[in-house]
Parts: sequence; structure tokens; C-alpha cells
Amino acid sequence: MATLDDRLQHVYDKVIRRNPGEAEFHQAVHEVLDTLAPVAAKHPHYADAAIIPRLCEPERQIIFRVPWVDDRGEVQINRGFRVEFNSALGPYKGGLRFHPSVYLGIVKFLGFEQIFKNALTGLPIGGAKGGSDFDPKGRSEGEVMRFCQSFMTELYRHVGEYTDIPAGDIGVGGREIGYLFGQYKRITNRYESGVFTGKGLTWGGSQVRTEATGYGTVFFVQEMLRSRGEELDGKRVVVSGSGNVAIYAIEKLESLGATVVACSDSGGYVVDEKGIDLDLLKEVKLGRRERLAAYAEARADADHVTGGSIWDVPCDVALPCATQNELSGRDAEVLVRNGCTLVAEGANMPCSPEAVKVLTEADVAFAPGKAANAGGVATSALEMQQNASRDSWSFDYTEQRLAEIMANIHQRCLETADEYGLPGNYSAGANIAGFIQVADAMLALGVI
Ligand code: NAP
Repeated sequence: MATLDDRLQHVYDKVIRRNPGEAEFHQAVHEVLDTLAPVAAKHPHYADAAIIPRLCEPERQIIFRVPWVDDRGEVQINRGFRVEFNSALGPYKGGLRFHPSVYLGIVKFLGFEQIFKNALTGLPIGGAKGGSDFDPKGRSEGEVMRFCQSFMTELYRHVGEYTDIPAGDIGVGGREIGYLFGQYKRITNRYESGVFTGKGLTWGGSQVRTEATGYGTVFFVQEMLRSRGEELDGKRVVVSGSGNVAIYAIEKLESLGATVVACSDSGGYVVDEKGIDLDLLKEVKLGRRERLAAYAEARADADHVTGGSIWDVPCDVALPCATQNELSGRDAEVLVRNGCTLVAEGANMPCSPEAVKVLTEADVAFAPGKAANAGGVATSALEMQQNASRDSWSFDYTEQRLAEIMANIHQRCLETADEYGLPGNYSAGANIAGFIQVADAMLALGVI
């Protein structure tokens, strides 16, 4: 990775020493520090108060055993995590991820990113993330429920509507939130709606929360295109993943006249030149919980490809919406060669540092996840507002609020990038704007 400005390099070296073996966390910290040199130079008082080293150290990290009994009667042991990273702006807020790859380094990278993302929304929420190395794939309903109940039996003592408010992420959707919230309610004997977001609509959830990350990413892309005098109508788009973020990104893209020609899961990708059939995709992934190969089996025009890269499919706009580091430097080179002009991260850190370098050097408009996918957490904060006022808003009103928030984030990124002499650099704009907001709150709250 590129060498940083002297003082920031010193902070980064210390992060590496104190957090050995946590490659994703190192990568996320480096990505932010890489853009903060102009801020450190302009505002030396942040260094005097050690704001940056303090930001790199989570306020609290919780690791716990999650024992549960599978359908064969065997005891299984998983590991649970919650990293409460920073609460200068509000109670900790961030999703839970259930995936076999989860370990402390992944949770810390996600929690660190969440601090800046949440700040960018302009809403009063701090940053956190959690999860487990539990793999829900292939598990029965009963197994998923028992796992969630065991996970919550420990986590409940650390969360609360004024403390820490989890939500979903990879492997945690409406079903899991239901089981987690149910166990919290049972243990605490309180119907504390505000302790989780992503709840079902009949028990305290918000309209648009399910769709929010995908829709929000597309609203952000619309703003990026508008600022270049272009529009989505007629664009050819590739979206990786076929989970919550990807599906609702595809829904919004298609409703705005774009053609989504490919999407993926961990078993491969489908190419459907006529445009992804959203009803079929939802039936396969959300209804039947099957692999994407079943989509191609049901649709004569679609091909299922295994072993390659979805980024080989030519497109104008690319939205990586699956997982971290899924788009490599080589993938970015192929995208550039095929004429792609815009990449926006629906997932968290899906583009490797090499990919971001290739895209930036080729003048491809690039939006980092902490700006482009902030619509999910922003709508979570809207869910918290509705819970606090015992109210529920209409779909249209909530979607309008989401669109406004995404337009504001876009504007803040561009204005901040301009102010610091880096016009059009969304990464720098997002990192600097988010950092300053948190840093000022940390200064105001003293050394805590
Ligand atoms: P999800 O519903 O569980 O879907 C994840 C999708 O990505 C699935 O299609 C999955 O395929 C694929 N995927 C996951 N790990 C993979 C891997 N190692 N290799 C290839 N494909 C993989 O999760 P999601 O909520 O859409 O989250 C997707 C991304 O968006 C994550 O980076 C998450 O942190 C980020 N995000 C989510 C939200 C939100 O509100 N949900 C908000 C902000 C950011 P398989 O099913 O085959 O594993």
C-alpha cells in the first residue's frame, strides 16, 4: 500500500502493531488515512487531541461463545462479535453479519467504515458492527432460530435503544432480525422497538428499510450521472451479488430505464442480455432461497457462468453489491477496457485498493461504499425516529426522505472534495466530511 504522510504513517504503523492479522481492518484504516493529510495540515488541533489514533481504537469490543443444538441433536459452537467503535455522534449503530468468513478483523473494518458512513447521513448515530462465523446456508428454520436465540442471549446485555442498535447485513435479513428481536423481548420483558432496525412492517419496521441500501445506491448513482450531464435511462449495468442490496438496486435501476445484464452469488454469475427478470430473481433468492443457477434453468435467454469474473461482462455502470474485495485490479482494468464510466460500491469495500487506483487513474467516476450505500443505515435512523414517536410513515414519504439524504451526501462529498483541492474525488470527500463531523464531536466531548 502507498506510504502515507509521516504523522499518519506513524498512526497506521501503530494500528498494524496493535491489531495483528486483521488485514481488512488495516485496509479500511489505510484507505481513510490516505485521504486525511490535507485535513491534518489545515487543522492541527485534531492532532493535538490525538483524534485520529483515538478513532482507530474501538471504544469497546465484545467477543462471546454462541452454543446451540443442531437438528441432529449435536452441540455446535460459534463465535459472536460486537465492536462498538465510536459513539461521539449518537448510540452505536451498525449491522450484524452471519457468514463463515467473519472474524474480528472483518467486524472491525466494517465498524470503522460505519463511523464515517453514519456521520455522512447527518443523523445522530455512532458506528458499530457485529456478527458471527455462523453459516445460515443449508440450515433449517429451527437451527437458524436456535442460533439467533443463543446469540441474543449474550448480546442483549450490550444493546438497547440508547446504547447500541444492531440491524442486518450479509446473512441477516428480516427472518433473523425477527428471531433476535423476539429473544431480546423475551429476556428483557420490554417491547423496545428501537433496539433493532430492519424489523417487519407489522411489528415496528419502517417502509423502504428493506429496499433502502439498493435504492439509495441507485439514487447516489443518479446524482453522479446528473453532475456529469447524463442519466440512467438506457445505461447497461452489471450488479454483483443477488442478496438484499443487489436485488433492490436492480429493482430501482430497471424502474429508471437501465438494463441490468448480470448479477451473481458465490456460485457464479448469470448473464441475461434482455435484462434480469426481477420477479424470477426474487422468487429464486427470496422465496425459494435457492442458488442463482436456478434462475438460468428457468430462463432460456440466461447463461450461468462459473469460474469467471462477473466484471468481464461489458457495461456502462458497475455496482459491486456482494462483499469486500470482490473487484480486483485486474477486474478494474477489464471494466475500463470495456468502456465502463462509473463504479459505485453498494457493498462495503468491494473494490480492492488496486482496483480503486486503476479506476481513478482512468477517470472512471468512483463512489465509495461509505457514501453510496449509506441509504440503508440512513433509513434505519428513520425507523428509529418512527419508533421513538410511535408513528409510521408512508412508503412514498420515506422514499422521498431517503432520496433527499442521498442527494445531500452526494453534495457534501463533492463540496468537501472541492474545498480540499481534490475535485470529483468522492473517496476523499466522503472520508474528510465524515471525519470532520466525528472529530468535532469528539473534541467537544473531551478525552473519553
Ligand atoms: P445478503 O443479502 O446476504 O447478500 C449477499 C450477496 O453477496 C449474496 O448474493 C451472496 O451470495 C454474495 N456474497 C456474499 N459473500 C460472498 C463471497 N465471499 N463471494 C461471492 N459472493 C458473496 O447481504 P447484503 O445485505 O445484500 O449485503 C451485501 C453487501 O452490502 C455487504 O458488503 C454488506 O456489508 C453491504 N451493505 C449492506 C447493507 C444492508 O442494509 N443490508 C447496508 C450497507 C452495506 P451467496 O448467497 O452465494 O453467499
